Amino acid sequence: MAETAKVRTVCGYCGTGCGLVLEVENNQIVKIRGDKEAPVNKGQTCVKGAFAYKYVHAPNRLKHPLIRKGGTLVQSTWDEAYDFIAKRLTNIKEKHGSDAISMFACARTTNESNYITQKFMRTAIGSNHIDGCNRT
Ligand code: SF4
Repeated sequence: MAETAKVRTVCGYCGTGCGLVLEVENNQIVKIRGDKEAPVNKGQTCVKGAFAYKYVHAPNRLKHPLIRKGGTLVQSTWDEAYDFIAKRLTNIKEKHGSDAISMFACARTTNESNYITQKFMRTAIGSNHIDGCNRT
């Protein structure tokens, strides 16, 4: 019988940040329960936090960046993808100005990530066109 490892973590599905305990066997999540020690949720979770983890091991989950080349999405490296993004943003900014670029930030990410996102837009891009459902 496989040994069950217990991994404490924080749910990333919404900004509440519930503490979770993952039960892991053979490097696969087999169960999730609320962390009783977590001050935010004291062992409780909503249905997403407890059950919506099948995507973690889904065979069709995206694991690499894809760049559209000649109408077809082609697997690329992260370096290639970041170079592509930087070149496209630079070209758009030079041709149309900073306000031609906008960004929609993720409400499910951390405050720190949202801070960096708005900082990037305001300083590197030079635009205030940033929003998210958490009003980034
Ligand atoms: S368990 Fe539910 S309420 Fe808690 S952080 Fe996850 S999605 Fe949000």
